[in-house]
Amino acid sequence: MTTSEASRPDIMERYTTLDQRGIVIAEYVWVDSEGNTRSKTRTLDPRTDGKKWDVDTLPIWNFDGSSTGQAPGGNSDVYLRPCAVYPDPFRRADNIIVLCECWNHDGTPNKYNYRHECAKLMQAHAEHEPWFGLEQEYTLLDMSDRPYGWPQNGFPAPQGPYYCGVGAGRVVQRDIVEAHLRACIYAGVKISGTNAEVSKSQWEFQVGPCVGISMGDDLWVARYILTRVAEDFGVKVSLHPKLIPGDWNGAGLHSNFSTKEMREEGGMKAIEAAIKKLEARHMEHIAVYGEDNEKRLTGRHETGAIDTFTYGVANRGASIRIPREVAAKGCGYFEDRRPASNADPYRVTGILMETIYGAV
Ligand code: ADP
Ligand code: MN
Ligand code: MN
Ligand code: MN
Repeated sequence: MTTSEASRPDIMERYTTLDQRGIVIAEYVWVDSEGNTRSKTRTLDPRTDGKKWDVDTLPIWNFDGSSTGQAPGGNSDVYLRPCAVYPDPFRRADNIIVLCECWNHDGTPNKYNYRHECAKLMQAHAEHEPWFGLEQEYTLLDMSDRPYGWPQNGFPAPQGPYYCGVGAGRVVQRDIVEAHLRACIYAGVKISGTNAEVSKSQWEFQVGPCVGISMGDDLWVARYILTRVAEDFGVKVSLHPKLIPGDWNGAGLHSNFSTKEMREEGGMKAIEAAIKKLEARHMEHIAVYGEDNEKRLTGRHETGAIDTFTYGVANRGASIRIPREVAAKGCGYFEDRRPASNADPYRVTGILMETIYGAV
């Protein structure tokens, strides 16, 4: 990374402080065929485009799907339908981030639009008041794809000091983590915490509890913000679940889940019934829980083995963990530890609802 590629706030200030003359800048964000966020910018003029920017009034837009793996070249228009709006922490003022679903020209959802199905499930089962809390683990890489703080040749000292680590040599790039936290709070993303993880250069943030479809929305916007913040620092974000083979923890997207019935007194019964249903469809879940997850779910490094479904109280080597305080209270939530860090939150939260409460 040369400095010329990095963001230059000193020069940029001349421009970012210019009066926008009432124009609102909207950054339309969507998810591509490989689970990266993509975005493009448009301006909105309150004099001609209305004054209220919400999902029903924002314009539908489009992009070239053949350049993102989302459509063939001969029929490349993919439509962006706004589905959630956030204050933009990068541009501030009245500017907004507009999260979008991708739709084909014939009115069918794009192949990689996993939100549509998920939203239907959330709506159909809304009476159960589903809450989700996702733990997003990730790794920060330099421009030669080496995890930060790892020696050019060889490996850092073994795992142990890095988890929730404090101090030079233990953690790297804390500025990115802090900036991401602040930006998410500004945007109204329901970020609930962050910590350094077990492998060096690995971090985690948590989003939730979020109700229904807003879980996937907030997590995708949190991923977008993280990638943008890291871009400012000239750093890459990897969501690969097992970046380095060997004695290094992989990265997951632990999915904490509860419904009204589980949170009420005696909710343990509903938790156990739900876990029984999950057990019966284990391999179907694994199929939508992220790419390369077989490299991570080995039964070692705080994971359960990919081909066996297990659960237990306070057990971090199981597929499903019931937190100790939940078992003690007899109600609360459970943690599905199987999803890989690169899983799509719409697919994870959707299949949990479908498995426990039925297809729609
Ligand atoms: P861990 O001990 O596994 O590292 P974390 O503290 O990182 O746990 O994450 C716990 C997550 O569980 C948070 O995202 C939080 O929002 C979520 N959570 C807490 N209570 C509930 C609940 N009743 N239903 C769903 N999610 C919950
Ligand atoms: Mn955690
Ligand atoms: Mn973790
Ligand atoms: Mn966890």
